[in-house]
Amino acid sequence: MTEQAPIKVDMEKIVSLCRRRGFIFPSSEIYGGLSSCWDYGPLGVELKRNIKDAWWRTVVQERDDIVGLDASIMMHPQTWAASGHLEGFVDPLVECKSCHLRWRSDDLAGGSCPTCGGEVTEPRLFNLMFKTFMGPIEEEASVVYLRPETAQGIFVNFQNVVNTTRKRLPFGIAQIGKAFRNEITTGNFIFRSREFEQMEIEFFVKPGTDQEWFNYWIEERLNWYVKLGIKRENLQLRQHMKRELAHYALECSDIDYLFPMGWAELEGIANRGDFDLVQHTKYSGKGLDYFDEQTKEHFIPYIIEPSAGVDRSALAFLCDAYDEEPAEDEIRVLLHLHPSLAPIKVAVLPLSRREKLVALAKQIYADLRRQWMVNYDDAQSIGRRYRRQDEIGTPFCVTIDFQSLEDEQATIRERDTMNQIRLPIVELKKTLQAKLDGEDLFVLPPGGKIWKVEREEG
Ligand code: ATP
Repeated sequence: MTEQAPIKVDMEKIVSLCRRRGFIFPSSEIYGGLSSCWDYGPLGVELKRNIKDAWWRTVVQERDDIVGLDASIMMHPQTWAASGHLEGFVDPLVECKSCHLRWRSDDLAGGSCPTCGGEVTEPRLFNLMFKTFMGPIEEEASVVYLRPETAQGIFVNFQNVVNTTRKRLPFGIAQIGKAFRNEITTGNFIFRSREFEQMEIEFFVKPGTDQEWFNYWIEERLNWYVKLGIKRENLQLRQHMKRELAHYALECSDIDYLFPMGWAELEGIANRGDFDLVQHTKYSGKGLDYFDEQTKEHFIPYIIEPSAGVDRSALAFLCDAYDEEPAEDEIRVLLHLHPSLAPIKVAVLPLSRREKLVALAKQIYADLRRQWMVNYDDAQSIGRRYRRQDEIGTPFCVTIDFQSLEDEQATIRERDTMNQIRLPIVELKKTLQAKLDGEDLFVLPPGGKIWKVEREEG
């Protein structure tokens, strides 16, 4: 990836690109949309999948101290009594219209926001959880909630995982899934919606080692975003003040990203202490303590929770990757997405629609598709086709020209530098794999050569 100076990108440009190229559409758009709900289109679904895969690979696949889980969205209603959500979210809530902090109205002395002095909304008894009924009878006894966080599914399965995996402390459980919050205010595109996806780790540790693990996870998670291409200067850590802490948290730090509307939370890392397991023990009557075979002690583990949003990550990756550069007499819009996040890895572009060329290009396309998401595009000039791929972040284009029919070679063109190499078609797959894994374009395979850097006609 090339170094670029950070550019301040307008949200409208991101929204427009997402709409135009099929990343993200308003939900049920033909009916006028549904407030703060979004549909991920053909490219958006790939981006989202790649983000989730990258997270899962880092926190589950490549570690031996975290296992995965996929708990159901609807849970026993007692879960929410134990977690504090049922009780905690029925306060008369007001929200500051400018900084969006929420307050209990009876805590406000002067009727304005204690942090920024802004105007607040009218107080209302509000529970953020969506409520529905299970089964055919709509009565109090059959009320269930859509989970407002994935975390509780992990806590209630703590003993199941300990018993079936024989994991020993410290260890974690990771989960990706939908969460629902009837947010008072929504907005800023996919930043705050009422249906969203979370990627959460609950990491169980021995009390006394929690501070160390809290610091460890802050570092780990920050590095994850940087490794996937987010500029470090666009990330910052923000430690919560005591009065800001959620009811369960001993300590919390947010990883904030410099979104177009300003710094805002991308991920929260909390030290939840023993709150959750103590509460679920109390409400379920089941012992959720842990037996340490070495010290022969029983205790309730402390929990460190890195909690990230898939949608907010997608927005941050898109904003950070967005770039515009002058090219000839137009602006080249491109997404410098990390190759592992790019929705399409390679585009196969035959120089013309002549039969022989198309046959060869289609054969290459079919072969590469077995490994990656690949586009085939033969419409309009080669320059236009390159621009289309740049705009959706495709790292490499493979061009098949007339000479390819004779010398069985093709050209690889790199998105960020527009540099090109020419190489034998038999080396294509292996070479693309190496380049997608980060190898320099100019490390040439046998028979490969640096190709002329052509003017890319628009
Ligand atoms: P905020 O203060 O922005 O409302 P939060 O502190 O309530 O967020 P957490 O409960 O810590 O959020 O949730 C963990 C993560 O889940 C957040 O960092 C964010 O990435 C994501 N998330 C939470 N609420 C939403 C939402 N309404 N829309 C999209 N993502 C969300």
